[in-house]
Order: sequence, then structure tokens, then C-alpha cells
Amino acid sequence: MHAERQILNDILNDLETYLEDLESQGLKEIPMQPRASKVDSSVGPLDSAGLESIAVAVGNCRLCGLHRTRTKTVPGQGCPHPELLFVGEAPGEDEDRQGMAFVGRAGQLLTKIIEAMGLRREDVFIANILKCRPPNNRRPTPEEMDLCLPYLSSQIALLRPKIIVALGATAVAGLLRPEPDFKISHMRGKWREFDGVPLMPTYHPSYLLRNNAAKAEVWIDMQNVLKKLGRVPPPRSGNAG
Ligand code: SF4
Repeated sequence: MHAERQILNDILNDLETYLEDLESQGLKEIPMQPRASKVDSSVGPLDSAGLESIAVAVGNCRLCGLHRTRTKTVPGQGCPHPELLFVGEAPGEDEDRQGMAFVGRAGQLLTKIIEAMGLRREDVFIANILKCRPPNNRRPTPEEMDLCLPYLSSQIALLRPKIIVALGATAVAGLLRPEPDFKISHMRGKWREFDGVPLMPTYHPSYLLRNNAAKAEVWIDMQNVLKKLGRVPPPRSGNAG
């Protein structure tokens, strides 16, 4: 609880500073916008300021030991009012270098999946459970996930996605806290919920790079996601292959 309160305080302090900057630049009021019902790339000023504040707080974070080995923090990026939020495990080498989520080989496959769904990367938001890379891409510890999760929860509160897609066992473990011996193969494809948002567990794209056959299962899961959104994939998209 102490860590969560500290993160919230940091975010509020950064937001206050940001709003004071806007005021000093002559901004007198911030128009409030209703939540978009369809994919909408317009940026709500207050929400984007909040997302920016979270990114700043992440950039300054030293809550767990990963701050010592990271190159860049990776808060996540994308549409500030997405229908879909994709959540993965943690930054890898490419992400750590660039400060962007899912930009390596697994990220390229995720882009293909998103496009097969009839969307673009800029229509969705992409983030991870951890905002810093674990050394040698080791699996995040439960303690690291507990310390970092409030950042993602704060992002979800601002993003208000219609659906969260949890990519892989670590994302599922971090968000849903299932039994320690759970199997992603048993959980994938079955609707869950996180903070009141429907959540679809599926395989991580890096697993698909090693197991081509699992792509068909992910595609079934993504078709269920599209169905819940009232969308259909473009006719030519058979799978993410
Ligand atoms: S992984 Fe999360 S909790 Fe740990 S230092 Fe990075 S931002 Fe902070």
C-alpha cells in the first residue's frame, strides 16, 4: 500500500507541475470530452496529461532493483482512448534500448495480429506488466510485479479500454493472480476481468515465434475479442501468419 500511495503522490505531483506549465503558457481551461464509443485518436488533454505524468513517474521510479540495470523505462504507448489494450510481460533488449513497448520481433508479430484484426498499432495501447527490463530477459518476480502494477492500473483507469488482451502467462499472472501452477494453455480463450474491464488471456507473440501452430488459437481468441467489440476482421485476414 505504501508503494501505491507513493506512486499516486508522484503522479499527482507531476500532473500538478504539468498543469502549472500549461497555465503559465496561457491555457485558461481544459475542455472535458465524453468517452469515445469507437476507436478515436483524439487526445483528451487531461487524460493525455495523466498518461504523460505516469510516464514521468515511471522514468523516475526506483521502487525495485530493475532501475539499476535498465537503459530506458518503457511505460507503453498508443491511443489514449483505445478500445483495446494489449499487456505483455516486460521490455526486452530492443524495448529497453528504444523506450517503446513491443518493437522487437515479437512486436512485429503483434503488429501483424493487430492489422489482421482490421486495426492499426496507433488505434490500440500497448504496455507491459513491468516498465523496466529484467536482466537477460529473466521472468519478472512476483515482488517486481506487485511494485510495478500500480502504474499499469493507473494507465488503465485513464485509458478506459473496452477490452484488455493479456499476452502470455506472466501478464496473466500479474493481472489475475491465478494459482501458481496455472497453465496459460488452460486459461487462454476464456473471458476474465481486471478492474471491471473484460480481459482475454492468450499466448505471447514470442511464444508464437517458436510455436507456429499456436497462431491459430490466438486468432480464435482475437476473433472473440472482435466479436465482443462488434467488429469483424477484414475479409482477406485469415490469420496473423
Ligand atoms: S520495474 Fe516498475 S517498479 Fe521496478 S523500477 Fe521499473 S518502473 Fe519502478
